[in-house]
Amino acid sequence: MQFESSGSPQNPPHIIARPEHTVSRRDIEVEALKVLYRLHHAGYTAYLVGGGVRDLLLGKTPKDFDVVTDARPGELRKLFRNSRIIGRRFRLVQVFFKGGHIVEVSTFRCRSEFDELAEVETGPAKETTYGTPAEDAQRRDLTINGLFYNVADFSLVDYVGGMEDLAAKRIRVIGDPAVRFARDPVRMLRVLRHAARIGFTIDPAAWEEILAQGHLIRTCPPSRVRDELLKDFHSGQALPFFKLMLDSKLFYAIFPAWVGKLGASGEGRLLELIGRLDPLVQNGYPLSDSLLWAVFLTAFIEPELKPREFKDLREFIQEKIKAALGGIEFPRARQDEVSQMLALEARMAPLLAKGQPIPARLTRLRLYSATWLLHQFKTAPEAELLERCDPEALPTPPPPAKRRRQRRRRPRGGRGREKKEGGEG
Ligand code: ATP
Ligand code: MG
Repeated sequence: MQFESSGSPQNPPHIIARPEHTVSRRDIEVEALKVLYRLHHAGYTAYLVGGGVRDLLLGKTPKDFDVVTDARPGELRKLFRNSRIIGRRFRLVQVFFKGGHIVEVSTFRCRSEFDELAEVETGPAKETTYGTPAEDAQRRDLTINGLFYNVADFSLVDYVGGMEDLAAKRIRVIGDPAVRFARDPVRMLRVLRHAARIGFTIDPAAWEEILAQGHLIRTCPPSRVRDELLKDFHSGQALPFFKLMLDSKLFYAIFPAWVGKLGASGEGRLLELIGRLDPLVQNGYPLSDSLLWAVFLTAFIEPELKPREFKDLREFIQEKIKAALGGIEFPRARQDEVSQMLALEARMAPLLAKGQPIPARLTRLRLYSATWLLHQFKTAPEAELLERCDPEALPTPPPPAKRRRQRRRRPRGGRGREKKEGGEG
């Protein structure tokens, strides 16, 4: 493996003793502490690692706490009765607690699963994936995500220069960005994500590499890229993330159909729409994935929308969604929901603007309430956004339609069914 200035597995770690750092046991969730202590008392090395350590050092509440140890999966299963092994090649152990809480424990590895997959393609893979703590730190993505908290003496163990980068408010890739991005291009998204979330600057070596190699993201499984982007929509910091996506052009590598289509005003509109998501997420409003995609796709579809009947609108929008997403995979049901919401909103908007009522056949649609939210989201003045999108203020969705027993066809000449506007459901 190739390493840069952030050290190599041979270098001793920088140990930061308890009085010299701010990570306190009080702030670590009790389940993760129980796992750490049980491992320690059984004679294993046990560290807290990843986002949990990073967020505690930043004074933020971590989303989850991951544990890493020298105990192997089989040993972990014996130590924690209420646990299971997941993953085939890269096995880790989930320890279950009351209330459905899970702590994930992995064994020190010598490389990331993505580095290993890349190596399988270019040469023989190493027999074992397990490794030393030093190797485990080096396989991680960013220096600020590679710090260990050692439950044995409450010290921090830094093999990668993470403490220095935290102090400098800098996002730096562990190892050579060219190598690490080529092996897993999703790391480019992770660089932008973490910079956006905590307002850090991106190390020039990583930034230059994203500018030069952004196109590699198209080699990743599209479903993985989609799921990664969803995390950013839900992050409450989607605006700074998408700004970086546009500045670095990584956005256009993922969505090539948008190249030359947005222009400065289109980019502005996209950021305006995405920027409205953040206050809602920050205030804990529940936002469905369909709504998030509908908001995002509005920037692509809106300039070409002309008044049409609902059914035509849906067909037109479905085509546009396919074009806008390029290779990004989308389950059929999700695509249908998003296209229906966009079409319904386009149908409702002129009526609402003129103060006209929405026909009952539209208000009865399953997605009417979600579409109402989309409309409020798009049209509310900035100062009223939270109030108008308040989940309590949404129209209640109609009860699920009862399944009617199939009637026999009427004989010829019987009363024809009233023509409905568009397909529903
Ligand atoms: P979050 O707060 O979003 O959970 P996180 O850094 O914990 O941030 P996770 O996706 O939970 O992100 O990953 C846990 C840890 O696994 C990371 O901190 C990092 O050390 C490592 N990691 C995650 N993805 C990669 C990757 N693609 N390559 C190398 N290491 C990774
Ligand atoms: Mg995490």
